[in-house]
Amino acid sequence: ALTIGIIGLPQSGKTTLFNALTKADAPIGGYATSTVQANLAVVPVPDPRLQPLADIFKPRKVTPTTVEFVDVAGMGQAASAGKEKREGLSAEFLGHIRNADALAIVLRTFANENVPHIYGSIDPERDLDSLNAELAVTDLATVEKRLERTSRAAKSGDKKYQPEIDLLRRLQETLNELKMASELEFSQQDQAVLGELFLLTMKPRMYVLNVSEDVLGDANELLAKIREGGDVQVESLEGELKGIARIAQRAKAEGAEVVAVSARLEAELAELSEEEAHEYLEALGLPQLGADRVIQVGYRLLNLITFLTAGEDEVRAWTVTKGAKAPEAAGKIHSDIERGFIRAEVTHFDDFMASGSFAAASKKGLQRLEGKEYVIKDGDIAHFRFNV
Ligand code: GDP
Repeated sequence: ALTIGIIGLPQSGKTTLFNALTKADAPIGGYATSTVQANLAVVPVPDPRLQPLADIFKPRKVTPTTVEFVDVAGMGQAASAGKEKREGLSAEFLGHIRNADALAIVLRTFANENVPHIYGSIDPERDLDSLNAELAVTDLATVEKRLERTSRAAKSGDKKYQPEIDLLRRLQETLNELKMASELEFSQQDQAVLGELFLLTMKPRMYVLNVSEDVLGDANELLAKIREGGDVQVESLEGELKGIARIAQRAKAEGAEVVAVSARLEAELAELSEEEAHEYLEALGLPQLGADRVIQVGYRLLNLITFLTAGEDEVRAWTVTKGAKAPEAAGKIHSDIERGFIRAEVTHFDDFMASGSFAAASKKGLQRLEGKEYVIKDGDIAHFRFNV
């Protein structure tokens, strides 16, 4: 399964956010070791298409698709212990985060005297730079180790190692300046080596701003405005909003996602029933749970799309990577269906809802028979025909 790693400085609200994401009733496999604590959770992905389908099919079961979050403490340890910052991350921490497919970076903008910040003040840009430095130093060690090995192999005079050495030197130079490897451009040929390095500064990322409850509404407006390219006078913004705007601008420049939440509020809402939580949100003038947005944006970050199956037995959401073809999608349901794949009957959710039933959609020509080369689209409702 694809995993999103939650990282951030100590006391930024990672664990609080994690608890909100898992809505308290989701399975949590937690364990602690000497220095690194990791929590892993399989989180249902909220999908507004499931309920309308369930209303029509009245199935026995409605099953959302899922995504994994892992919450790893262990960054900023050097800083909190007053040690030299340029020492990279512990091997234990790395074991947890290397395999994550994307990063959710929690940045604190809320102030609270009872929750001291390890740097003594609130400054999300400084915190991001500090986290980036830790990631870069760690990647640098990975790259230098590989460079040593490849250089040794190249001593034989074999020219085939040269492109790899060039790539590693480029990475080394960038990381040495504490810049992210993702800022570089790579050739097709580079991809093979990159695929083996699992660099932390290459991972797609989203910034989760943990904001004070009372600026949540303003923060959401500000983020939308910046995302849409609106004119924002950052310097004239006050306190917390200024930091929020700066991170949003950086995210935009990097092509990263950014979401504002109040982790504490989210954790409280997660304790309520769905109905109560929505009433509460409405009273606050918020459109959606922040935790749900984090999940949805994280899902997008992983380059995933959802297709659906619908019948009286079950209405269900399934995950495939963007670009997957029909047989691969069929294989998510069962390997036999992929192996014996004949055709997919596909009706897009929007067409289905406009028609009211498969039969009506079919009559309007909105239900299509697709073959092996069909690329699945987000929101397709599929029924697979296959040989047993
Ligand atoms: P972690 O070290 O990053 O996992 O941070 P925690 O989730 O343990 O949070 C650290 C402290 O900050 C806890 O006492 C939380 O209750 C508090 N905290 C977390 N999120 C918020 C928030 O959104 N607002 C406020 N005021 N406090 C928060």
